[in-house]
Amino acid sequence: MTNVYENILGLIGNTPLVKLHTVTQDIPATVYAKLESYNPGHSTKDRIAIHIINAAEKKGLLYPGATVVETTSGNTGFSIAMVCIIKGYKCILAVSDKTKKEKIAYLKALGATVYICPANVPADDPRSYYEVAKRIASETPNSIYINQYFNELNIDAHYQTTGPEIWEQTQGKITHLVACTGTGGTLSGSAKFLKEKNPNIKIIGVDADGSILKGFHETGEINKTDIHPYQIEGMGKNLIPSALLFDKVDQFVRVNDEMAAYRTREIALKEAIMGGYTTGAAVQGLLQYAEENAFSPSDVVVTIFPDHGSRYITKVYSDDWMSEQGFTNNDVHNYDAVFKTEEIK
Ligand code: PMP
Repeated sequence: MTNVYENILGLIGNTPLVKLHTVTQDIPATVYAKLESYNPGHSTKDRIAIHIINAAEKKGLLYPGATVVETTSGNTGFSIAMVCIIKGYKCILAVSDKTKKEKIAYLKALGATVYICPANVPADDPRSYYEVAKRIASETPNSIYINQYFNELNIDAHYQTTGPEIWEQTQGKITHLVACTGTGGTLSGSAKFLKEKNPNIKIIGVDADGSILKGFHETGEINKTDIHPYQIEGMGKNLIPSALLFDKVDQFVRVNDEMAAYRTREIALKEAIMGGYTTGAAVQGLLQYAEENAFSPSDVVVTIFPDHGSRYITKVYSDDWMSEQGFTNNDVHNYDAVFKTEEIK
């Protein structure tokens, strides 16, 4: 029997590459998108959830009735909750009180217990979501704390799966890898594998305007003036994650909320790929990189598209949200003509 699975977890990984035709047409290279939304939990985070939980089982850290704890309102939470259902574990997620109701509903739909913690307290305050998650994990027997920003298995998940998939899918022809960095796991694990195969492959990290990762890569220091709030979720950080292998990254590019938002919508309208906000950020990062770096027709670029746009329908795909942000710049982007979709009442 082909294409038949024991359960939903059998569908994790082996995501497709799709060639881009329009949004990157000015780059004289073949550009592919790796569609991580084809994972059953609709994001790249399925890979780390299954990998970290399987590793804990192998080490004897989890046995029936176990609890898995993490601090996330995003994709990782959804993926952990999915894995926990199949394995019969309890999933506890500590999230900030800034988290939208809609996202909490997503997590609850997959049976997660969600602790809502104040956002406006320091990370070391006992009420912060970091401290709440740590406390629950330490007080609960038969539990693990995923700790994705500081867990080397996050890197390993991508070293074992994403990197080899890209190498095989491009038949070793890949010349550039572009990915947004949150924990850094996707880029670092894939880069580690690909650089072992061919050290000349260029690894391009995409950071958010408001995050310290690009600055840290370039100076080795945390520049506090880099830190400011931003809208793109899932990428950039105000701390240095150990899951980000800075020495594997050749160059970082920093993208802003507005350009990433336009690009996300442009990819949906022109390539018919409805990705999340960091999908637009990744392509925007590639386009900015291409302004300063030459490509040749034989180059093969792989860009990671981390998740699906359905999670952003009230955000980047909402005309109201775009205008609330002031992202409807007709002078520069001819926004109304390009992006405003017709609504007939
Ligand atoms: N995009 C989205 C939507 C994400 O949720 C994440 C994960 N935080 C990333 C990009 C970045 O992936 P990574 O954590 O592996 O760097």
